Amino acid sequence: MKKRQIVGVAIVFFLITLSLTLFSCGHSHEWGEWSVIEHATCISEGKWERICACGERDIKILQPVAHASNDWIVDKEATLKEPGQKHQVCSVCNQSFNQETIPSITVNSLPAITDTHKDPFRPRYELANCRNLKGKPVVVLIFIDDNESHWTKDEILTFTHKDVLVALNYLEKNASKWDVDLDFVIESYSTPVNNYEIKYEGIVNPDVLNGDATTNVLSHAAADIGSVTNWELYSYYKSIYPNDDIIFLNLLNKPGISYSIHSIMPGTYQFAEHCVIFADYLGEVYPDGACASTIAHEILHQFGAEDYYSSDSRKNLAIQKYPNDIMLWANDNIENNSIGDCTAFSVGWTDVVPEVCYNHRWWE
Ligand SMILES: [Zn+2]
Ligand SMILES: [Zn+2]
Ligand SMILES: [Zn+2]
Repeated sequence: MKKRQIVGVAIVFFLITLSLTLFSCGHSHEWGEWSVIEHATCISEGKWERICACGERDIKILQPVAHASNDWIVDKEATLKEPGQKHQVCSVCNQSFNQETIPSITVNSLPAITDTHKDPFRPRYELANCRNLKGKPVVVLIFIDDNESHWTKDEILTFTHKDVLVALNYLEKNASKWDVDLDFVIESYSTPVNNYEIKYEGIVNPDVLNGDATTNVLSHAAADIGSVTNWELYSYYKSIYPNDDIIFLNLLNKPGISYSIHSIMPGTYQFAEHCVIFADYLGEVYPDGACASTIAHEILHQFGAEDYYSSDSRKNLAIQKYPNDIMLWANDNIENNSIGDCTAFSVGWTDVVPEVCYNHRWWE
């Protein structure tokens, strides 16, 4: 029914047009060629005309043409968490057009790492993802709130400058003593500073020796940043930086026993090793800067360094040979710690096997 009405209206309109043309000047016009009066542009109509010998003009209006550009201008880069925005600018009229959303980044899972390295004197060296404490390893700071602790913006800035950066500078300075170039790249996520909502729903167990040193902390943070798994977060950084050595520091503003998860199981896995750092120790509030040695200690773990207090016999040897070594104990003032030849060897700053490694008591 509707369709028929529309056809009827169209036919009547056509007849009116035809009769106007036929009877307006009493003869059948003989039109000349079409000529351009104005070209259509992206902001104005075009106008063409043809003329009959009788002087009658027939005008044809052309709709504006599309804006022209080959290039996109990015207003906001897409991140792992949020889509971005882009638009084009017309090269003729300079108007913006084609506002479009850039989909948020997805990361294809990297192939799992296979450990093949076996060095009897440094069994944790060159395992997992962090293998070279040299060049430009990436440090990812993730300031995490949980149900019983919170970071303020000021606390984050103070902790970053007095603890984290001091620890990183300390490691860079010590690497240079072994002629190793080390220059950390730093990324940072936090709720009040750059509006990433990093919240562990629950309470992060402060006592790793008596609790769960699991992947939970980084996995929760990864979900908040926009990754599905901690491995996807690792893959993301690996796709941005030409580097496998991504150090995740999960930072909690409460007392606890800091730890480092460094995969030592040979085999194939997709697991982002990481550190969980508590700003204070159990039952002890650190002054500003006192956590720097702990941070440096845990980063060294990521690259293969081992604790010197893991057995009494090793601890006793260490007290004699490396009394201030950062793997033996972490001083409130990091400048009172040192990095001896065994620790340097364990992270690959030197390949000279230290004397202590030939002592069977070191391994008991
Ligand atoms: Zn005519
Ligand atoms: Zn235009
Ligand atoms: Zn340790």
